[in-house]
Amino acid sequence: MSAGGAGAAGPAVGLALLLLGSAAVEALEPGAPTGAVGAEAATPLPQLRAYEAPEPWRQPVAPLRIAEDTWQIGTAGLSVLLLVGDEGAILIDGGMPQAAGQVLANVRALGLAPADVKLILHSHAHVDHVGPLAGLKRATGARVLANAESAALLARGGAEDIHYGDAMVYPPVQADRLLQDGETVELGRLRLTVHFTPGHTPGSMSWSWQDRAPDGTPLRIVYADSMSAPGYRLLDNPATPASSRTIAPAWPRCARCPATCC
Ligand SMILES: [Zn+2]
Repeated sequence: MSAGGAGAAGPAVGLALLLLGSAAVEALEPGAPTGAVGAEAATPLPQLRAYEAPEPWRQPVAPLRIAEDTWQIGTAGLSVLLLVGDEGAILIDGGMPQAAGQVLANVRALGLAPADVKLILHSHAHVDHVGPLAGLKRATGARVLANAESAALLARGGAEDIHYGDAMVYPPVQADRLLQDGETVELGRLRLTVHFTPGHTPGSMSWSWQDRAPDGTPLRIVYADSMSAPGYRLLDNPATPASSRTIAPAWPRCARCPATCC
Protein backbone atom coordinates (compact mmCIF):
# COMPACT_ATOMS: atom_id res chain seq x y z
CA MET A 1 0.00 0.00 0.00
CA SER A 2 0.78 3.59 0.20
CA ALA A 3 3.61 5.81 1.19
CA GLY A 4 2.84 9.35 2.16
CA GLY A 5 -0.68 10.65 2.48
CA ALA A 6 -2.57 7.52 1.51
CA GLY A 7 -0.93 5.35 4.15
CA ALA A 8 -3.86 5.32 6.52
CA ALA A 9 -5.97 3.33 4.08
CA GLY A 10 -3.21 0.80 3.50
CA PRO A 11 -4.12 -2.35 5.42
CA ALA A 12 -7.77 -2.49 4.45
CA VAL A 13 -7.16 -1.71 0.81
CA GLY A 14 -4.28 -4.12 0.44
CA LEU A 15 -6.41 -6.88 1.88
CA ALA A 16 -9.25 -5.94 -0.44
CA LEU A 17 -6.99 -6.33 -3.46
CA LEU A 18 -5.81 -9.72 -2.29
CA LEU A 19 -9.38 -10.89 -1.79
CA LEU A 20 -10.35 -9.66 -5.24
CA GLY A 21 -7.58 -11.73 -6.75
CA SER A 22 -8.54 -14.77 -4.72
CA ALA A 23 -12.17 -14.52 -5.76
CA ALA A 24 -11.23 -14.34 -9.42
CA VAL A 25 -8.97 -17.38 -9.17
CA GLU A 26 -11.70 -19.32 -7.42
CA ALA A 27 -14.10 -18.55 -10.27
CA LEU A 28 -11.73 -20.15 -12.77
CA GLU A 29 -10.94 -23.30 -10.82
CA PRO A 30 -11.53 -26.66 -12.54
CA GLY A 31 -15.04 -27.88 -12.04
CA ALA A 32 -16.59 -24.46 -12.03
CA PRO A 33 -19.67 -24.20 -14.28
CA THR A 34 -18.83 -23.28 -17.84
CA GLY A 35 -21.32 -21.46 -20.01
CA ALA A 36 -21.47 -20.28 -23.60
CA VAL A 37 -18.45 -18.62 -25.19
CA GLY A 38 -20.01 -15.20 -24.70
CA ALA A 39 -20.51 -15.79 -20.99
CA GLU A 40 -16.91 -16.94 -20.55
CA ALA A 41 -15.66 -13.88 -22.41
CA ALA A 42 -17.50 -11.66 -19.93
CA THR A 43 -15.47 -13.03 -17.00
CA PRO A 44 -12.40 -10.84 -16.41
CA LEU A 45 -9.04 -12.50 -16.19
CA PRO A 46 -7.71 -12.62 -12.62
CA GLN A 47 -5.03 -10.05 -13.29
CA LEU A 48 -7.59 -7.65 -14.78
CA ARG A 49 -9.87 -8.16 -11.80
CA ALA A 50 -6.94 -7.24 -9.57
CA TYR A 51 -6.73 -3.85 -11.27
CA GLU A 52 -10.03 -2.82 -9.72
CA ALA A 53 -9.53 -0.08 -7.18
CA PRO A 54 -11.56 2.15 -4.87
CA GLU A 55 -12.99 5.21 -6.56
CA PRO A 56 -10.75 7.70 -4.69
CA TRP A 57 -7.73 5.90 -6.11
CA ARG A 58 -9.00 6.74 -9.61
CA GLN A 59 -10.38 10.21 -8.89
CA PRO A 60 -8.31 12.86 -10.75
CA VAL A 61 -7.10 15.86 -8.81
CA ALA A 62 -5.27 19.03 -9.84
CA PRO A 63 -1.61 19.37 -8.80
CA LEU A 64 -1.27 20.24 -5.12
CA ARG A 65 1.81 22.16 -4.00
CA ILE A 66 3.34 20.68 -0.86
CA ALA A 67 6.50 22.80 -0.83
CA GLU A 68 8.47 25.02 -3.20
CA ASP A 69 9.72 22.14 -5.36
CA THR A 70 7.35 19.37 -4.28
CA TRP A 71 3.92 18.62 -5.78
CA GLN A 72 1.32 15.90 -5.27
CA ILE A 73 0.06 15.02 -8.78
CA GLY A 74 -1.61 11.67 -8.11
CA THR A 75 -5.26 10.91 -7.52
CA ALA A 76 -7.48 11.74 -4.55
CA GLY A 77 -6.47 8.56 -2.75
CA LEU A 78 -2.96 7.74 -3.95
CA SER A 79 0.18 9.83 -3.59
CA VAL A 80 2.27 10.56 -6.67
CA LEU A 81 4.96 13.15 -6.05
CA LEU A 82 6.73 15.36 -8.57
CA LEU A 83 9.81 17.32 -7.55
CA VAL A 84 10.49 20.15 -9.98
CA GLY A 85 14.02 21.53 -10.09
CA ASP A 86 16.25 23.59 -12.34
CA GLU A 87 17.35 20.67 -14.51
CA GLY A 88 14.11 18.73 -14.77
CA ALA A 89 11.73 16.81 -12.57
CA ILE A 90 11.76 13.66 -10.48
CA LEU A 91 8.66 11.48 -10.17
CA ILE A 92 8.08 9.34 -7.07
CA ASP A 93 5.42 6.65 -7.57
CA GLY A 94 2.75 6.56 -10.26
CA GLY A 95 -0.42 5.13 -8.69
CA MET A 96 -2.54 2.48 -10.41
CA PRO A 97 -1.79 1.28 -13.96
CA GLN A 98 -4.60 3.33 -15.46
CA ALA A 99 -3.24 6.55 -13.90
CA ALA A 100 -0.54 7.19 -16.53
CA GLY A 101 -2.65 9.67 -18.49
CA GLN A 102 -3.66 11.53 -15.35
CA VAL A 103 -0.05 11.79 -14.17
CA LEU A 104 1.11 13.11 -17.54
CA ALA A 105 -1.80 15.58 -17.64
CA ASN A 106 -0.70 16.97 -14.28
CA VAL A 107 2.91 17.18 -15.46
CA ARG A 108 1.71 19.30 -18.38
CA ALA A 109 -0.53 21.35 -16.06
CA LEU A 110 2.64 22.44 -14.26
CA GLY A 111 4.05 23.74 -17.53
CA LEU A 112 6.37 20.80 -18.08
CA ALA A 113 6.73 18.42 -21.01
CA PRO A 114 6.84 14.68 -20.33
CA ALA A 115 10.50 14.71 -21.40
CA ASP A 116 11.25 17.10 -18.53
CA VAL A 117 10.77 14.16 -16.14
CA LYS A 118 14.30 12.77 -15.93
CA LEU A 119 14.12 10.26 -13.07
CA ILE A 120 11.42 7.89 -11.81
CA LEU A 121 11.60 6.66 -8.20
CA HIS A 122 9.10 4.74 -6.10
CA SER A 123 8.25 3.62 -2.59
CA HIS A 124 7.48 -0.06 -3.14
CA ALA A 125 6.68 -2.18 -6.17
CA HIS A 126 3.00 -2.94 -5.62
CA VAL A 127 0.42 -2.24 -8.31
CA ASP A 128 -1.07 0.80 -6.57
CA HIS A 129 2.24 2.68 -6.62
CA VAL A 130 4.15 1.53 -9.68
CA GLY A 131 1.34 0.32 -11.97
CA PRO A 132 1.96 2.86 -14.77
CA LEU A 133 5.75 3.16 -14.51
CA ALA A 134 6.39 1.16 -17.69
CA GLY A 135 4.16 3.51 -19.66
CA LEU A 136 5.50 6.59 -17.94
CA LYS A 137 9.07 5.50 -18.69
CA ARG A 138 8.18 5.18 -22.37
CA ALA A 139 6.34 8.52 -22.44
CA THR A 140 9.05 10.50 -20.65
CA GLY A 141 12.30 8.72 -21.46
CA ALA A 142 13.14 8.99 -17.75
CA ARG A 143 15.51 6.57 -16.01
CA VAL A 144 14.02 4.26 -13.40
CA LEU A 145 16.03 3.96 -10.17
CA ALA A 146 15.40 1.21 -7.61
CA ASN A 147 17.18 -1.01 -5.14
CA ALA A 148 17.92 -4.59 -6.18
CA GLU A 149 14.97 -6.15 -4.35
CA SER A 150 12.46 -3.72 -5.79
CA ALA A 151 14.01 -3.90 -9.25
CA ALA A 152 13.41 -7.65 -9.29
CA LEU A 153 9.72 -7.20 -8.43
CA LEU A 154 9.37 -4.40 -10.99
CA ALA A 155 10.87 -6.64 -13.67
CA ARG A 156 8.34 -9.37 -12.83
CA GLY A 157 5.48 -6.88 -13.03
CA GLY A 158 4.54 -7.63 -9.44
CA ALA A 159 4.22 -11.37 -10.06
CA GLU A 160 5.39 -13.92 -7.49
CA ASP A 161 5.01 -11.41 -4.68
CA ILE A 162 6.00 -13.15 -1.45
CA HIS A 163 2.62 -12.40 0.12
CA TYR A 164 0.22 -11.78 -2.77
CA GLY A 165 1.53 -14.22 -5.36
CA ASP A 166 0.23 -13.18 -8.79
CA ALA A 167 -2.86 -11.36 -7.49
CA MET A 168 -1.61 -7.83 -8.24
CA VAL A 169 0.34 -7.69 -11.48
CA TYR A 170 1.13 -4.75 -13.78
CA PRO A 171 3.21 -4.04 -16.89
CA PRO A 172 6.83 -4.90 -16.00
CA VAL A 173 9.50 -2.24 -16.10
CA GLN A 174 13.28 -2.48 -15.98
CA ALA A 175 15.34 -0.42 -13.56
CA ASP A 176 18.20 1.53 -15.13
CA ARG A 177 20.25 1.99 -11.96
CA LEU A 178 20.44 0.04 -8.70
CA LEU A 179 20.56 2.03 -5.49
CA GLN A 180 22.40 1.37 -2.23
CA ASP A 181 20.95 2.22 1.19
CA GLY A 182 21.68 5.83 2.09
CA GLU A 183 22.62 6.81 -1.45
CA THR A 184 21.85 10.31 -2.69
CA VAL A 185 20.01 10.84 -5.96
CA GLU A 186 20.69 14.20 -7.58
CA LEU A 187 19.18 16.19 -10.42
CA GLY A 188 20.28 19.81 -10.49
CA ARG A 189 19.39 21.33 -7.13
CA LEU A 190 17.19 18.36 -6.20
CA ARG A 191 18.90 15.97 -3.78
CA LEU A 192 17.06 12.99 -2.31
CA THR A 193 18.35 10.32 0.05
CA VAL A 194 17.00 6.78 -0.13
CA HIS A 195 16.42 4.81 3.08
CA PHE A 196 15.78 1.09 2.79
CA THR A 197 12.80 0.23 5.00
CA PRO A 198 12.02 -3.40 4.13
CA GLY A 199 8.89 -4.94 5.55
CA HIS A 200 5.81 -4.16 3.48
CA THR A 201 7.93 -5.43 0.59
CA PRO A 202 11.54 -6.61 0.74
CA GLY A 203 12.55 -3.63 -1.41
CA SER A 204 10.51 -0.91 0.32
CA MET A 205 12.19 2.48 0.18
CA SER A 206 11.57 5.73 2.03
CA TRP A 207 12.88 9.05 0.72
CA SER A 208 13.96 12.30 2.35
CA TRP A 209 14.92 15.69 0.98
CA GLN A 210 15.17 19.37 1.79
CA ASP A 211 12.66 21.87 0.47
CA ARG A 212 11.24 25.27 1.38
CA ALA A 213 7.88 26.62 2.48
CA PRO A 214 6.38 29.48 0.42
CA ASP A 215 7.88 31.99 2.90
CA GLY A 216 11.32 30.47 2.41
CA THR A 217 11.41 28.50 5.67
CA PRO A 218 13.51 25.35 5.19
CA LEU A 219 11.54 22.11 5.33
CA ARG A 220 12.69 18.54 5.81
CA ILE A 221 10.39 16.15 3.98
CA VAL A 222 10.20 12.40 4.48
CA TYR A 223 8.16 10.21 2.16
CA ALA A 224 7.94 7.16 4.40
CA ASP A 225 6.87 3.87 2.88
CA SER A 226 4.07 1.79 4.33
CA MET A 227 4.73 -0.12 7.55
CA SER A 228 1.58 -2.23 7.16
CA ALA A 229 1.45 -5.99 6.70
CA PRO A 230 -2.14 -6.58 5.48
CA GLY A 231 -2.92 -10.28 5.57
CA TYR A 232 0.77 -11.21 5.69
CA ARG A 233 1.95 -14.46 7.23
CA LEU A 234 5.02 -13.25 9.09
CA LEU A 235 5.86 -16.43 11.01
CA ASP A 236 6.71 -19.77 9.43
CA ASN A 237 6.07 -18.48 5.93
CA PRO A 238 7.97 -20.79 3.55
CA ALA A 239 8.04 -18.10 0.84
CA THR A 240 9.73 -15.59 3.14
CA PRO A 241 11.10 -17.25 6.25
CA ALA A 242 12.94 -14.13 7.39
CA SER A 243 10.06 -11.68 7.04
CA SER A 244 9.40 -11.38 10.77
CA ARG A 245 13.03 -10.37 11.26
CA THR A 246 13.28 -8.01 8.30
CA ILE A 247 10.11 -6.01 8.93
CA ALA A 248 10.84 -5.10 12.54
CA PRO A 249 13.93 -2.86 11.99
CA ALA A 250 11.99 -0.62 9.60
CA TRP A 251 9.66 0.69 12.30
CA PRO A 252 12.18 2.35 14.64
CA ARG A 253 14.13 3.56 11.65
CA CYS A 254 11.12 5.45 10.30
CA ALA A 255 10.23 6.66 13.79
CA ARG A 256 13.58 8.46 13.97
CA CYS A 257 12.85 10.40 10.78
CA PRO A 258 13.07 13.21 9.94
CA ALA A 259 15.66 13.90 12.63
CA THR A 260 18.06 11.35 11.17
CA CYS A 261 16.91 11.20 7.56
CA CYS A 262 17.64 14.65 6.15
ZN1 LIG B 1 1.70 -2.30 -1.04
